[in-house]
Amino acid sequence: MHELAVTRSLLQILLQKVEEEHLQKVTRVFLVVGAMQNYEDVWMQRYFDKLSTGTPLEGAVIDVKRVPLRFRCRLCGETFTLNLQGEDPLVCPRCGSEKYDRISGQEFYIDRIEAVGE
Ligand SMILES: [Zn+2]
Repeated sequence: MHELAVTRSLLQILLQKVEEEHLQKVTRVFLVVGAMQNYEDVWMQRYFDKLSTGTPLEGAVIDVKRVPLRFRCRLCGETFTLNLQGEDPLVCPRCGSEKYDRISGQEFYIDRIEAVGE
C-alpha cells in the first residue's frame, strides 16, 4: 500500500505547517494529484484519519483534485490526452507524430488548506 507512505509524508508536511503558522485545527486539505499518480483517495483518507489521531489534523477532510494526463506535440503543438491502456496508437491525434512531451499528470502537491488559527 503506497498510500500509507505518501500519507505519512503528507502528514509530516502538514504538521510542520501547523506549527509554523500556529494553526489550531486543520479542517480540509486540498490536494492536486495527477492521473499518473496511482493513489486511491479512499485509502489516503483512511490512513490520514488513523495517523492524524490526536494531532491538529484530526478529522480533516482530504479533497483531491485530479489532473488529467496531457501531452503536447513537438511538431504541431497540439495538446491532447492519451489512453495508455487503450488499443489506439500512442501518437498525436492531429498529425500522427510520435514526438511529444508530457505536460501534466504527475502532480502531487498540497494546493491549500482550510484551518482554524489562533
Ligand atoms: Zn502533432
